[in-house]
Amino acid sequence: MMPQKDIKTTCSYCGVGCGIIVKKDENNKVYVEGDKDHPVNRGMLCSKGMNLHYVANDVSDRLLHPQMRWSKSHPLERVSWDTALDRAAKVFKSVIQKYGPDSVGFYVSGQCLTEEYYIANKLTKGFLGTNNIDTNSRLCMSSAVVGYKKTFGEDSVPISYADIELADCFLITGANPAWCHPILFRRIEQHKEKNPNVKILVVDPRKTDSANFADVHLQILPGTDVILYNAIGRRLIERRMIDKNFIKNHTDNFEKYKKQVLSTSLKEAAKICGITVDEIKKAAQIIGTSKAFISMWAMGLNQSAIGTHKNYSLLNLSLITGQVGKPGSGPFSLTGQPNAMGGREVGGMANLLAVHKDLFNEKHRQEVADFWKVDKISDKAGYTATEMFDALESGKMKAVWIVCTNPMVSMPNAHQIEKALKKAKFVVVQDISNRSDTLEHADLVLPAAAWLEKEGTMTNSERRISYLPKGIEAPGEAKPDVEILCEFAQKMGFDGFNYNSTAEIYQEYAEMTKGSNIDVSELNYDRLKTEGTFQWPVSESEQGGTPRLFQDKKFYTPSQNAVFNVPDFVNNTSDLPNETYPLILTTGRVRDQWHTMTKTGKVSRLKTHYSTPVLEISPVDAFINKIKDGDVVDVKSGKGVVRVRAKVTDSVKNGVVFLPMHWGKQLQSDLNRANNLTHTIVDPVSKEPDFKYTRVSVSKYKKN
Ligand code: SF4
Repeated sequence: MMPQKDIKTTCSYCGVGCGIIVKKDENNKVYVEGDKDHPVNRGMLCSKGMNLHYVANDVSDRLLHPQMRWSKSHPLERVSWDTALDRAAKVFKSVIQKYGPDSVGFYVSGQCLTEEYYIANKLTKGFLGTNNIDTNSRLCMSSAVVGYKKTFGEDSVPISYADIELADCFLITGANPAWCHPILFRRIEQHKEKNPNVKILVVDPRKTDSANFADVHLQILPGTDVILYNAIGRRLIERRMIDKNFIKNHTDNFEKYKKQVLSTSLKEAAKICGITVDEIKKAAQIIGTSKAFISMWAMGLNQSAIGTHKNYSLLNLSLITGQVGKPGSGPFSLTGQPNAMGGREVGGMANLLAVHKDLFNEKHRQEVADFWKVDKISDKAGYTATEMFDALESGKMKAVWIVCTNPMVSMPNAHQIEKALKKAKFVVVQDISNRSDTLEHADLVLPAAAWLEKEGTMTNSERRISYLPKGIEAPGEAKPDVEILCEFAQKMGFDGFNYNSTAEIYQEYAEMTKGSNIDVSELNYDRLKTEGTFQWPVSESEQGGTPRLFQDKKFYTPSQNAVFNVPDFVNNTSDLPNETYPLILTTGRVRDQWHTMTKTGKVSRLKTHYSTPVLEISPVDAFINKIKDGDVVDVKSGKGVVRVRAKVTDSVKNGVVFLPMHWGKQLQSDLNRANNLTHTIVDPVSKEPDFKYTRVSVSKYKKN
């Protein structure tokens, strides 16, 4: 047998975007290795990435054929692709005709490839006539999108991983990269090992592995980030550790910001945050004296009722110190999913348009409409993630098409999601495996091809676009998502979806970017295959694209200055504890699991770290609530109950408990699902739900 060529691809889990080499053995089974030549991971892989071959080789849980129920009371039964997509088109046409285009919508995923995201958006916004397309990325980084847009004029991550090795100060906040972005964190560790003077500050209500590695851990109370960053800002101003030149020549609105941060004392801030004044001073001193300062953040800032304000307050620290557009410095939002960034590029949210155009700008809407050869794009924002399920529950929306995501486990207030899906007239679930709890509510199940079974592109956290080739055949009748969507569009009678290849779809998107700040019009599959990965924007001659933005200090705002957005000087009061629910629950992730475990949950070695969810509770709160380590406890909120074992640990502060979010109904019991407890309060601007601040009670479980 001829040796098969290695396949170079990218990990399908987190937004770090590690390069992987896939090899095949004599039985055509794949195995994976880290790509030593890849600029992101240089051969390293984390536990999730190095076990990807188990996921690819084991097709025992895969959806193999389209399935449909003829009415709500009928079971799902196998049907042909034609029957399935005819039915979908018939229902969508009739619902739109009867209730209007806003009665249907798509709920997609940051795991979709860029071409899939692009087509789903073109189909919904251009042809179905509604902006009702949102994504599970709404749940993880929409607050960061707002922060970047308001500060720099566009949703643009200024720096690259290559800046890590040039920085001398890291502020990691609302993130645990040691577990959730492990290879990125490994690069920071390696950098500090070589350069002991590099300082790492971690801000987190929990003592995480990232916090344990830090020089300074500010263990603030949940929801108090804005006050902390404003207090650091105040200290930097008072100690003259600011870049006056940068502020004067390249920013707007500094005086308003200064007035606000000077209005609260460090003492007051320390009290609200639950830390000491000295800790605030120390953090300010480290940031203010650093030559190259990077801030990094993820869900802890974004998933909040005040997520945009948390983002503003953190971004302001980079502006006040002039640490933008320089080597080794800048604010760096970490994306959770592998292609959350690609989704942002193609306008993959209910309030965005492709290529960073503005949905609320008539000229921009017409440009997109003309490009897609349609009359117009609706000027009405679509339903965002939580709004979409509200609309299904209230009957305003009748049909939803869910692609590559499992809202029954990942959305807040899971019981409401269940009600909404039960109420919906028509639910399409397009996914790869039978491990999604959401399938239970599907009227139509469409089997999709998985990682390595289809081709396309993705963009990681640092704007790096990778080409992912097809390396193996999809099982059964599973098809690439993009083919499914294009076939549906054609059944709806729409022109513009008759592509000969995925490359053609990428070319169309790339053409659309011409002249924009994310221009990739000179990039194509051939270049990606032969020259490797590129960071947008990309010019014809450039190798690798643009690693760092704003080096000329010209931002994308009308004044070309970066803008200080003045955050409200308040902490999160969205769900304050009371007598009935005296503790604050914050939810998050464990090291070896990914999202709702539909992939990592089938790899037994990934369960050795955590086989079940546990509630972290402080020794004081455990004592007050008569709980011992290992006890089974009931955690209750106004929305539901979770029953898990308690882990008594000082990794959480008094008054705070922590629960991982991965477990759903199918994999364990309904009572392990953290989102039984969470509410649907969202940031009013970004519409990102607050998974980090739910009041709960905890008591020892007693059998009746
Ligand atoms: Fe995959 Fe992220 Fe791990 Fe890299 S760090 S191997 S991208 S899960």
